[in-house]
Amino acid sequence: MTNTTTTPRAKKLSLKDKHALMTRGLGWETNYVPMDEAFPYDKFEGIRIHDWDQWEDPFRLTMDAYWKYQAEKERKLYAIIDAFSQHNGHLNLSDARYLNAVKIFLTGITPVEYNAHRGFASLGRSLRGVGPRVACQMQALDELRHAQTQVHTISHYNRHFNGFHSWTRNFDRMWYLAVPKSFINDAMTAGPFEFLIATSFSFEFVLTNLLFMPFMSGAAYNGDMATVTFGFSAQSDEARHMTLGLEAIKFLLEQDPANLPIVQKWIDKWFWRGYRLLTIVGMMMDYMLPKKVMSWREGWEIYFEQSGGALFADLSRYGIRMPKYADIAVAEKEHITHQAWLMLCQYNWAAGIHTWLPSADEMDWLAAQYPHTFNRYYRPRIEHWKALQAAGTPFVNTNLPCLCQVCQIPLAFTETSDPTRIAHRESRYLGELFHCCSDGCRDIFEAEPEKYAQARLPVQQLLQGNLGGPELPDMIRFWGFEPGRDTGPYEASEDARRWAQWKDQPQTTAA
Ligand code: FE
Ligand code: ZN
Repeated sequence: MTNTTTTPRAKKLSLKDKHALMTRGLGWETNYVPMDEAFPYDKFEGIRIHDWDQWEDPFRLTMDAYWKYQAEKERKLYAIIDAFSQHNGHLNLSDARYLNAVKIFLTGITPVEYNAHRGFASLGRSLRGVGPRVACQMQALDELRHAQTQVHTISHYNRHFNGFHSWTRNFDRMWYLAVPKSFINDAMTAGPFEFLIATSFSFEFVLTNLLFMPFMSGAAYNGDMATVTFGFSAQSDEARHMTLGLEAIKFLLEQDPANLPIVQKWIDKWFWRGYRLLTIVGMMMDYMLPKKVMSWREGWEIYFEQSGGALFADLSRYGIRMPKYADIAVAEKEHITHQAWLMLCQYNWAAGIHTWLPSADEMDWLAAQYPHTFNRYYRPRIEHWKALQAAGTPFVNTNLPCLCQVCQIPLAFTETSDPTRIAHRESRYLGELFHCCSDGCRDIFEAEPEKYAQARLPVQQLLQGNLGGPELPDMIRFWGFEPGRDTGPYEASEDARRWAQWKDQPQTTAA
């Protein structure tokens, strides 16, 4: 039946009106309980918000559009993963050594994505403004989807290689995974605005390029189309997250001048925490990719010194300055990745990845990338270790390291003024002595000692008998790894043996 009467029809809403109705229009003021009781957490950090409606949603994405876009990406992603798996995509990798970077991603980054999903869900509940709540809801879903697509993509490798089988347990219990775990737990246990600045601004906006670009280009260069695919699928979400980070900081700074010192303190803290975490990525770029993309130094110069420099110059109109200790991070750029990889090599009996010493060609590349440091400080150590290895007495370190109370990385970084001396800072709290790797970490400790004094440091746990048993293999099994099979040098690994077999004797398909 056609409508021939003159009854007025509802006008089709503009995108802007529809978005307003589907976001702001869904909020209300509580009247059974005061708003301050319904939202008890968005004031205690001292942040002052006068008008939540000033929050801009740059993407104007409604939930129905969100589900439609994401479903479309999901269909493509799973089609590619299926094809990768059916065609034994792992055989096209540059080398099986590469997969140790993927092991780090699965055990160290994927669980952080999962926890970011929990953090954003909780953040959405904590803020009384409707605009940011909708943005947080979408980001919570994005992060959950990232964790899921990563697990599904990487599951292909679990059929063919060691070390991929117990990632949730590894993340919860293992020593170097305590580094990313403590990072995200620190953010999740902060107040809502600190969580927002920590993840959306300091990590997603300032530092994320240094995480995703090297991993995704590294994957592409090394034939890992599975990882490239989830990287692409996450990229459009990432653009939204970065915009949220920038909007968050502008919003807080424009609402009240009293917010500035609080925000600057969080930027200082989360820059340093993020920078320390990214050491793992830098080590991957410099040592773990069989085909290199760029060095950590180059990445740092492009994505932090140049892009970050421009960003902070722009934010100076709000009174924001460069993060404290950014100069130290710049001064250390020719050192940290070598120190981190060599630390992992000497503890490879207790690592869930395999390690190896760089080849002569790789050392030449490192020398060219690190002209001021590599030949002088790191090549001699590597050559000495290679000689020990050739003599059948490889260097392994079974001493338990002192861990930083804040970033939880073993004290392996050196003084900027003297790269032959380990940096070691101390702080006293309630009569007890605490150790930190740097001034940056010590500042963070001293700002909230009651928080960091509670850190569950793996070495202290071992000494207290809380890591599965009295012997070192008990501890490795407690983490969810099999000693010798999932751990140790690459040359002696099952991964290496299988790879050599596949490459020497290509599998013939049954006729
Ligand atoms: Fe994510
Ligand atoms: Zn530290």
